[in-house]
Amino acid sequence: MKVDLHSHTYYSDGKHDLCYLKARALENGLSHLAITDHDCVDALLVEQQGDGPEIISGVEISCTWENIEIHVVGLCINPRDPQLSRLLAEQQAKRNKRVAQIDQKLSQLGSHGLMEALSALQARALTRSHVADFLVESGVCANRKKAFKRYLNKGGKLYVPAEWCAMSSAIEAIRAAGGIATLAHPGRYAINRIKLKRLVETFRQAGGEALEATYPNIAPEMKQYLEKLGREYSMYLSCGSDFHDAAATWTDVGKLPTLSSESAAHGVWRHPQWESRFQFQAS
Ligand code: AMP
Ligand code: MN
Ligand code: MN
Ligand code: MN
Repeated sequence: MKVDLHSHTYYSDGKHDLCYLKARALENGLSHLAITDHDCVDALLVEQQGDGPEIISGVEISCTWENIEIHVVGLCINPRDPQLSRLLAEQQAKRNKRVAQIDQKLSQLGSHGLMEALSALQARALTRSHVADFLVESGVCANRKKAFKRYLNKGGKLYVPAEWCAMSSAIEAIRAAGGIATLAHPGRYAINRIKLKRLVETFRQAGGEALEATYPNIAPEMKQYLEKLGREYSMYLSCGSDFHDAAATWTDVGKLPTLSSESAAHGVWRHPQWESRFQFQAS
């Protein structure tokens, strides 16, 4: 069993379709691949084609906890659950509103055409990543890194704060959809260990059941710490590449530091809901 439980398609800010991801996962020897697009599940609603690993239905919801942005991954969800669908529609509306505000700011800087470029995309969830691509393509920025640093991050010329749902609402919607709420890349939030521990504790109390204990570029000490936190709070452990794009610097599907064998014994695939997971039939 070789799993990658965090990846993106072009329905959010990934660059490829499900078919491509499946083929890549097959090449890299995966048995399971979770598709976890930002605030949308559209990739899971298209008919699957080609050989490859089993696709696990997932989502990555942007939310807020104590004024910081947290990402919660839902695994083994029913992508057609009404409560989850409602929350995702709200999140997508917030994303649309945010890009419209960014477009206004960009127009004031003398650059036009963002909304038109975005409407030509497949994306259901519009992200800052799409805006970064536009800034590079239209010659405003030399590369994506600069686009984020100078324009899209806090303090940047086009920065618009996001108004995501509360972390508890994201967990609740994932659970309503029969999924396992998983704290995404816990070491990537700009918080110290005391606050990180409090985040994990709050996440657990709110019904979160798993955390990502390994992902690309994680420091070995952080991986050890997350494995320890997982044990302390009796959580299942997950792992994911957060793959977006084969052409860019994103880590390839399935390429990430492995969990220790002790941690693998608490892998999220041991969760009862993994066994009885919703097997989605596209229509
Ligand atoms: P959003 O959810 O709309 O705020 O968009 C954030 C997305 O932009 C993330 O999911 C990443 O894929 C991407 N991203 C964020 N920061 C950077 C960065 N500094 N360089 C490149 N991509 C980034
Ligand atoms: Mn992304
Ligand atoms: Mn994330
Ligand atoms: Mn992600």
